[in-house]
Amino acid sequence: MVSTPLLLCLFAWNRGEQAGEFAFLLPFLMLITFLNLRNTRFCDACGATQYSRGVSRPRHCSRCGASLS
Ligand SMILES: [Zn+2]
Repeated sequence: MVSTPLLLCLFAWNRGEQAGEFAFLLPFLMLITFLNLRNTRFCDACGATQYSRGVSRPRHCSRCGASLS
């Protein structure tokens, strides 16, 4: 999940976007990265890393089903 914004950055860079557009895009990508990191949780029961695909945090472990605090 964390690598996705980086791929978008490389994609925009390779397309030769205008510097202004890239500067506009950068804070958005940083926000995505921040949300991804914030939503990354670790299961207390089995230790599995939990990723969220949206803005909400995962509530249950995808491996063992334990509720996440
Ligand atoms: Zn678990």
